[in-house]
Amino acid sequence: MGLPDRHIIIVGAGIVGASIAYHLANRGVKVTVLDQNHPASGATGSSFGWIHSTVSEDAPDVLLRRASVADWHRLEKEVPELWLHWAGALSYDSDTLASQAKEKMLEQADIARLEPALNTPPPRAYFAKQDGAVDPIDATCVLLEKACSLGAVLKTQTPVLGFTREGNAITGVETPQGTFNADCVVLACGTGISPLLSAMAISLPVSASPAILLRYGTPDRAINTLLSGDDMEVRHARNGDILAAEDYPATGGIDEIASDALTAITRRLKGTGSARLLCQSVGQRPVPEDKCPVMGFISEVTGLYVAVMHPAVTCAATVGRMVSEELIGGNSSEIPASYRPARFSNPKLK
Ligand SMILES: Cc1cc2nc3c(=O)[nH]c(=O)nc-3n(C[C@H](O)[C@H](O)[C@H](O)COP(=O)(O)OP(=O)(O)OC[C@H]3O[C@@H](n4cnc5c(N)ncnc54)[C@H](O)[C@@H]3O)c2cc1C
Repeated sequence: MGLPDRHIIIVGAGIVGASIAYHLANRGVKVTVLDQNHPASGATGSSFGWIHSTVSEDAPDVLLRRASVADWHRLEKEVPELWLHWAGALSYDSDTLASQAKEKMLEQADIARLEPALNTPPPRAYFAKQDGAVDPIDATCVLLEKACSLGAVLKTQTPVLGFTREGNAITGVETPQGTFNADCVVLACGTGISPLLSAMAISLPVSASPAILLRYGTPDRAINTLLSGDDMEVRHARNGDILAAEDYPATGGIDEIASDALTAITRRLKGTGSARLLCQSVGQRPVPEDKCPVMGFISEVTGLYVAVMHPAVTCAATVGRMVSEELIGGNSSEIPASYRPARFSNPKLK
């Protein structure tokens, strides 16, 4: 079957599904994206949007993170409607201070030049000047619109309930709106992946890890880069609002977290005294049980592919490229064996 005749269904219209849909449609593949709600209604809708490429050499996602910046730069050239902000990230949290070599650190005077609004800049910080930020909701919608302009079809409010199969081959998906046939189904539905697979007795554990996104209105810009410390993780959104990402509290007191984050912002940053909380949301980050990205065909059946990882906004441009190349060109040697889903059914492959 020629490429234009192949039909690929992507389940999930988050940043991962949108990127895969765009990359496939751009190569002439017939694509249908199905989402149970609407684009970016999962973790992507609450994401902070840091393109965070700094990671240790032995981290499971090092390959994707190291490639992420170049792939996002490529993508913004291909799709000029995308908005990315490349101003670097300044980290002074205790993990970064402990893991980065002293000679790589900026001193207080350099930090003050980079971020003049900081009250009492930290004595040392690591500056990842290649890092950037993207509005994850906007990027998801732009990539899907681009995919649709290239012939893809997006169906919202369409939950995938199960699969149709002929013997061992997956031939499509079942939804309340009927059956959709496909030559291949890609599961890019985050925390929705495990229940869909477990209904076929296939184990692929993806846990839901909650985190909070806070948005504060402020009249003036106070941050040039993206700031990440133990006290706060903040950047400006495109419209000037301050975005903050916070861990979900064990006790569940989100209002307290929002208030503490605002206190940290106003204490740390000059000119933010009148900042006010505009909204808060909790997103469930899909995290594979072993923290390693999952990319590849499910070995128990044919025609079923999975793509899930954390942090997926960082990795999405690279994942879209790699997955589309594999689906079009066949098994890719660029994707390491440790990312393959078979490791969950055959632990010897880990
Ligand atoms: C507060 C917060 C801050 C974050 N900050 C960052 C950051 O700075 N950088 C970064 O890289 N990452 C960050 N992340 C993580 C990042 O947001 C996620 O890794 C990413 O959004 C996951 O994208 P996804 O497309 O895999 O999943 P999702 O965005 O969860 O999308 C899955 C989609 O699948 C749909 N779906 C599920 N089940 C079904 C089904 N059965 N049928 C049809 N549709 C289905 C859902 O409706 C959803 O739209 C953050 C997350 C949070 C919550």
